[in-house]
Parts: sequence; C-alpha cells; structure tokens
Amino acid sequence: MGVPSVFVRTSGCNLRCVWCDTPYASWEPEGEWRSVESVVEEVRGFGASHTVVTGGEPMIMPDVVELTRGIKALGHHVTIETAGTVYRQVTCDLMSISPKLSNSTPWERAGGRWVQLHERLRMQLEVLRRLVREYAYQLKFVVQRAEDVEEILELTKRLEAERSRVILMPEGTEREVLRERSLWLVDLCRREGFRFSPRLHIDLWNGQRGV
Ligand code: SF4
Repeated sequence: MGVPSVFVRTSGCNLRCVWCDTPYASWEPEGEWRSVESVVEEVRGFGASHTVVTGGEPMIMPDVVELTRGIKALGHHVTIETAGTVYRQVTCDLMSISPKLSNSTPWERAGGRWVQLHERLRMQLEVLRRLVREYAYQLKFVVQRAEDVEEILELTKRLEAERSRVILMPEGTEREVLRERSLWLVDLCRREGFRFSPRLHIDLWNGQRGV
C-alpha cells in the first residue's frame, strides 16, 4: 500500500458480485479493445515500477499471459488481482487472490438471473489450490458481516494458507460504512491473527473513478 502503481483494468468478469465496486467491468462492461503492445507501452509511459493487473477478472482473458510477460519485461513488480476461479500461467510477483464468499451472491439483483452462474463458479477449490501452490500469494476477503469469518476459517484451513497471508477488508464504497465495519473487523483480525486492509482509495477519493 502506498507504492505508486499503474493499474491495468481488464473489462469483463465471469462472476456478478452483488456489491461489485467496478460494475463498469462486470455488470455493465465498458472499455475498448486494445493490443497487448499498446497497453505495455502505456504502462511504460507512467514511469512507475509497480503494476497491478486487475478487472473485472483478468484471468478470463487469454492475452493476460502475454500482457504480464510484457509488463514484467519492463522490470516492473507485477501483481494480479483475481477471484481465483480460472487458472493461467502468468508472470507475476504477487497473486492477490480474492475468493468470493456467500455474501457476494446477487440473490435479488437483476431479478436473480445471475445467481446460478455465480454460485456455480465463485469457489473453485482446485484452481485456488494451484494458484496458492505455484505463486507468491495473498488471500484477500471482502467482509460484510462478522459471520463471514466462519467461511474464511474453513477455506483457509482447506488451502492450508498461512494466517499472515490472509487479509480481511471491509465491504463498502462509502467512508462512513467502511469506518463502522473497520472497527469490529480490526478486532476480529487481532483475534484470529489475520491482516487488516483499509480501502485507501475510498478514504482518499470516496469511490471516484480513474484516480
Ligand atoms: S469478481 Fe470482482 S469484478 Fe467480478 S463481479 Fe466480483 S467484485 Fe466485481
């Protein structure tokens, strides 16, 4: 956190989290088709040393393999942000995996028409195991309510993940909501030995796009 980083956001996602904070890359995907070369060139132009490839879901895009190789060739530290439902052999220094808990299912949104797909895809244990085994990783969970911890404990146990690699982040796109949730989530992290992550971009810019 706090390291100037270029964010490359791919548009399109195989999930439909009810609280998705980037609906313009999932529920109503926007964007333009770009070649890998043009994206790598634009990344180079920022003069940063860190790049985060995020989405949507970057791992559904076959070109992510070539993209990460190109960005790495610039000498950058490369992070991938993924829900961990699709495996690809990418080039990265950190696989930031955010498995989606049951709090993400869109039971009522869009007449519930995404529920079945979302429930079927959101937890791919074999993919998660492989990502954890093959990459330097962190597991980041979006927490809405204290009961979410039961699912987190169960999954981290099944993945044999070290507690120090598990990060809990409050769900919310407004400062006030995040503050209220952060207070009990910090206590929960202390109790269970997990790390806590604030949402710096919301604290600083309150959900504004493109910052
Ligand atoms: S996986 Fe990420 S991008 Fe996709 S719907 Fe969920 S929060 Fe949004």
